Amino acid sequence: MLTSDPIVIIGAGLAGLACANYLHRAGRPVLVLDGADAVGGRVRTDVTPEGFRLDRGFQVLLTRYPEVERLLDYGAADLRAFRSGAVIRLADGRETTLQNPLQQPLAAFTALTSPIGSLTDKLRIMQLVLQVRSQTSQQLLSQPATDTLTFLRRYGWSEQIIDSFFRPFFGGVFLDRSLSTASNFFEFVFQQFVIGEAVVPALGIQQIPEQLAARLPAASVRLNTLVEAVGGNFVQLRAVKL
Ligand SMILES: Cc1cc2nc3c(=O)[nH]c(=O)nc-3n(C[C@H](O)[C@H](O)[C@H](O)COP(=O)(O)OP(=O)(O)OC[C@H]3O[C@@H](n4cnc5c(N)ncnc54)[C@H](O)[C@@H]3O)c2cc1C
Repeated sequence: MLTSDPIVIIGAGLAGLACANYLHRAGRPVLVLDGADAVGGRVRTDVTPEGFRLDRGFQVLLTRYPEVERLLDYGAADLRAFRSGAVIRLADGRETTLQNPLQQPLAAFTALTSPIGSLTDKLRIMQLVLQVRSQTSQQLLSQPATDTLTFLRRYGWSEQIIDSFFRPFFGGVFLDRSLSTASNFFEFVFQQFVIGEAVVPALGIQQIPEQLAARLPAASVRLNTLVEAVGGNFVQLRAVKL
């Protein structure tokens, strides 16, 4: 391939745009093709005729994701943070809040008396918080893993806190309520929630892919361009009805 030939990337989701950004920084020409009408893939924001911005699915950005720190300009994204913690609906319909004791120290006292889990459960959460804070992301990800459910049980948490907090919260994050996700990845994500913030850009989550796309040369992202086949030296397109 001649160095002036663009590297064709299929998909202007976060993966494709991140890849295109790295290649562009390295001086390589890129051409990103996407069948959709906007960049972002699963990370999209719709604007209603009344001007409301609706993200597709509930998405948050965890600010300490190492890859995100390398790629995004946080200042330009005008990020708005959520308070760190989880609101849990109890079986009787009442709600209780489990807050991050490191970000809201006073909340630790109310957390101790909340009806979610035993005192030991809460002390174990504190123990894991301190443990993941003392390690780098790379250390967490490279340690031997089991599945998340086995990890939680071995760590000593009761079935009650697993079912009322870990399963709905991390099951939602992983789209895996059985908690079969690798335990080192669970520890990594837990660390991200502890050390960073969960944020959304003021104008919606799609601002993130828009920012990545805006850094690429004009005309290097082609939308409404569906790829039908890829061969050794060709990319075959299919017409998209607009
Ligand atoms: C409801 C929901 C909530 C989520 N919440 C979070 C969250 O809070 N935090 C978080 O970090 N992650 C979250 N995620 C996950 C995150 O959205 C995805 O991991 C990420 O967007 C995947 O990016 P991707 O580029 O790999 O794929 P995609 O976003 O799927 O992008 C693929 C792109 O390729 C295009 N494409 C595919 N085939 C072709 C073709 N043949 N020709 C042309 N174009 C093609 C598609 O149109 C699409 O734009 C959530 C996901 C969902 C669905």
